[in-house]
Amino acid sequence: MSLETLLRQAQRPLLIAHIAPDGDAIGSLLGLGWAMKELGRWPTLACADPVPESLQFLPGHDEIVSRRKGDEDVIVSLDSSDLLRLGSLYDQELFAALPVVNIDHHVTNVRFGSEQLIEPTAVSTSQIVYDLLRRLDWPVSPWSATCLLTGLITDTRSFRTSNTTAEALRTAVALIEAGAPLAEINGHLEHDIPMGVVTLWGRALSAARLQDGIVSVEVTRKLLRECGVSGGDASGLVSLVAGVRQAQIAVLFTEKPDGRVEVGLRSVPGVDVSGVALALGGGGHRQAAGCTLPGPLEAVRDTVLAHLAQMLAAAQPELRALGGSDSDA
Ligand code: 5GP
Ligand code: MN
Repeated sequence: MSLETLLRQAQRPLLIAHIAPDGDAIGSLLGLGWAMKELGRWPTLACADPVPESLQFLPGHDEIVSRRKGDEDVIVSLDSSDLLRLGSLYDQELFAALPVVNIDHHVTNVRFGSEQLIEPTAVSTSQIVYDLLRRLDWPVSPWSATCLLTGLITDTRSFRTSNTTAEALRTAVALIEAGAPLAEINGHLEHDIPMGVVTLWGRALSAARLQDGIVSVEVTRKLLRECGVSGGDASGLVSLVAGVRQAQIAVLFTEKPDGRVEVGLRSVPGVDVSGVALALGGGGHRQAAGCTLPGPLEAVRDTVLAHLAQMLAAAQPELRALGGSDSDA
């Protein structure tokens, strides 16, 4: 059965977004969920972790649950490159019993599931969902459009990432024409920094290090506690320091409450961080990837920086061919 037929027949699909959800995970979950609801289906919208406060303006966010209901007929995974990323919603027995549709744009997707719709060149999973809705001739309501456009905006950092295409911009126009309020979405996304995060940025940035083309920043549990913010709030830091002229790679280490360390990676075109993330048990895209490793932080720092330095040395010929600089530091 084709993926399209499977989705057309689904009455009670279980739609799942990845843990530590971002705008694309929640946006694609709700965007597809709205379309299905408008067709009279009964989707369960699920994510093992709570919706971040910054995304709680999206229509339908309060219907997202952290556990399944139990009568689903199809599973649809959104924006998740492996089953670990589904957290507690991954249930081996259930996943063996039901068709599993894997919709994603990570180049490191391990192709789990019985049906795959994986497009690494798509700027976001919400872009893939939008194309799917059009192909199925399903409705794109203002609510669905709002959620999908939010996914597109957040994953492209407002259409600034190097993978942004004319198609992504055309999709944005179509979503605005379908009723997505661009200014309102940007207002929610941009005007949302808790004051404690500004303090945290200041303290973390003042200790940023640059060595051999790699800029790194660390956020310890102690710093999070002192600033009164959560680890998720710190995630924007890596994109900030990725703009450092002398750096080809930016890395953010964040200590989680359980002592594990989240590693966020960014790189310039010509340097691919997805391979290092995958080798360390994570995944992502060429220019933005990540993984989570057991602590302590010092050991994680040493391991990750060693992997990155080795990869960066091997990437120098390609960087030179692209006109990048390796002697700026
Ligand atoms: P961020 O640094 O924004 O948290 O993540 C950048 C990219 O890497 C995202 O596409 C995200 O899905 C991916 N990523 C981050 N952490 C992990 C991880 O622990 N496992 C996997 N598979 N991907 C990750
Ligand atoms: Mn995404």
